[in-house]
Amino acid sequence: MTRTTRELVDLTAATATGNPWIDAGLAVLLAECGPGMHAAADVAGWLTTHLIGPAGGQSASSASGSNRPTGKVGWKPPASAVVNITSPGGRPLAVPLKSARSGTCELCGQTGRVADAAMAFLPMVVASKNFVNFASGTRRGLQVCLRCMAAGYAAYLGCLWWRRGPHCYMFLLHGLLDQMRQLYRTYIGPARAGAWSLSPAFGGDGPSEVTWGLILTMFRAMHARDPQADAAAVAAIDEVHRLLGLSAPAAPEAPISLIVLAVTKVGRAPRVRQLSVISHLPTLYELYKAWIQELEHDGVTDAHDVLTGVFGQLVVRTRGGNSDTRWRERVAREIIHFGDPFPFVEEFVFELASSSPKGKRLAIGTTTVVDVYAREVFAMAQELIDRIASYGYRLGRVAAEQQKMSLLYDLRNARSIEAYLEVINNAQFQLQLPVPKELTDVRGESIGGVPWQRVKSLVAIHAMNAYLYHQKGGGSDGERN
Ligand SMILES: [Zn+2]
Repeated sequence: MTRTTRELVDLTAATATGNPWIDAGLAVLLAECGPGMHAAADVAGWLTTHLIGPAGGQSASSASGSNRPTGKVGWKPPASAVVNITSPGGRPLAVPLKSARSGTCELCGQTGRVADAAMAFLPMVVASKNFVNFASGTRRGLQVCLRCMAAGYAAYLGCLWWRRGPHCYMFLLHGLLDQMRQLYRTYIGPARAGAWSLSPAFGGDGPSEVTWGLILTMFRAMHARDPQADAAAVAAIDEVHRLLGLSAPAAPEAPISLIVLAVTKVGRAPRVRQLSVISHLPTLYELYKAWIQELEHDGVTDAHDVLTGVFGQLVVRTRGGNSDTRWRERVAREIIHFGDPFPFVEEFVFELASSSPKGKRLAIGTTTVVDVYAREVFAMAQELIDRIASYGYRLGRVAAEQQKMSLLYDLRNARSIEAYLEVINNAQFQLQLPVPKELTDVRGESIGGVPWQRVKSLVAIHAMNAYLYHQKGGGSDGERN
């Protein structure tokens, strides 16, 4: 059937579809094209300009990218991680945006001209098996209107992303359509143009460490006040601050969620998974501010860098010269969800002690970061934290001076509250080190109202920190006194 009427993309009264991917794309289209009726060819042209270019092209958020331009034309990242269509026979590539028949859109419910959303272009909405939260539950192609299809492409321009090896992580800031449109205008669009940094503070193979690295980068931009910044830049920061709900009490209309997607290329078929939905960015931001404040209180001038250095250090070099980031991944996963990162920090500290040459120390600020987390997230009393810190410090220092590292390993290996008490009793006997009564205030399985394992982990982290500082080849003064 030949079509005589112009194909149109109707943005007159676009409303959210409830599908985060499509909504992100609608926000981009509304911000870039404006509400109203648009010729499909114009919208496709705009999308083609922004989505298709020299293959291997770089983007502002692709700090790790190792691709060089090849002279070929292809889909730009992050779409290139998903779309596996190349141009046959050297024909110029273009974003396809044509309807096939009349019907009802399965995403927004509108009746009119529809097309088939192919897996090759829009797995975010079609690949339901791996992407259960995003699609309605079939593996066949979806029938969608041109507006939803255009939005499906535009969403690649409305997300933050990070690529490493076969993995590409995409991050959507999802809220009400109007909030998303404003966030695109003030944050994501300018970031694509290079106005904001989108690179995670650190990145490894794990999705949680990348997500945490990205969140830290976002928070830095929101928190740092560059004295050189002009009024427009300051206003932009304030606006993004408000939209993300970071500045109480002017809360946004609805909380913004950070949705993390992972695309992993296995052969030609991308595997798309939704990893997490983080709806508590404001609470994480409060934790971030508490860390910065405490580090600055300790006399640190570059608190953000010190903070990222604490997480950045959670990497061990393997014998083969590779980086093993599993501890950072576990710690990040716990922190993002306000879980318990201490057992993994403890594991890392002991791994560092056993695998690194002498003289290796923990990054400055490590114990401060741990203590603030205990106070802010677990609501541990500052007095108990201080007792643990000062006892742990002395235990580690004296153990280093008397070369009794085995005591620290006994502490780490304690598997019951009785074993923990036995170790600190032994330390008292062997090192002449009095134990503060708060650390033996046992009630059931807790000490001072805190699960004994948490107290044990904190003592062990502080002790090993001091041990590494004071072992032969170390300095004469610890981080904590
Ligand atoms: Zn639709």
